[in-house]
Amino acid sequence: MSRFAEPLSRLIDELSKLPGIGRKSAQRLAFHLLRTQEEDAVALAEAIRELKAHLCLCSICNNVTELDPCAFCTNPTRNQRIICVVEEPSNIASIEKTKRYAGVYHVLHGVLSPLHSIGPEQLRMQGLLDRARAGMVDEIILATNPTTEGEATAMYLANQLREFSARITRIATGIPAGADIEYADEITLAHAMEGRHAME
Ligand SMILES: [Zn+2]
Repeated sequence: MSRFAEPLSRLIDELSKLPGIGRKSAQRLAFHLLRTQEEDAVALAEAIRELKAHLCLCSICNNVTELDPCAFCTNPTRNQRIICVVEEPSNIASIEKTKRYAGVYHVLHGVLSPLHSIGPEQLRMQGLLDRARAGMVDEIILATNPTTEGEATAMYLANQLREFSARITRIATGIPAGADIEYADEITLAHAMEGRHAME
């Protein structure tokens, strides 16, 4: 039998599924929520429910969106023939902050990671290959993080995309090796985008 009342142990179970939340943190959060005002707890539950009810992935680029296709894919002022490939939807916000990019995106939702058994089948690559195959793209910028896994993913994609006519480029290594695009400052990231080079 659990040490906690059933609703409490259920909440602890759910919270401990979140990334970076261990059993101890989950217990601390659950007890915090137990003490919190009812309206605050309900607001949190509602926010989570709304998130799932109203957001989906763009059927073109896999960005998280309220409307499918997303605001980038339907924007006539964005160059639909340049695609910037990123690991996570949150990377888009970082690139947008540089205000130097006017193309569209493709979100992989991860990187290749043999260590965590993440192979090409686990990533969302197909839409990108389809767009390249259809000749709808002039340039594909591989903007995965400069980590071992990000580099391996960029290499893999470059190989997959080689047969199509689009120019394949990789962001410059202005971002320190092993770093995360999400934490690069705007100037560094803008330089990395501008200094992109063709992949051999
Ligand atoms: Zn989209």
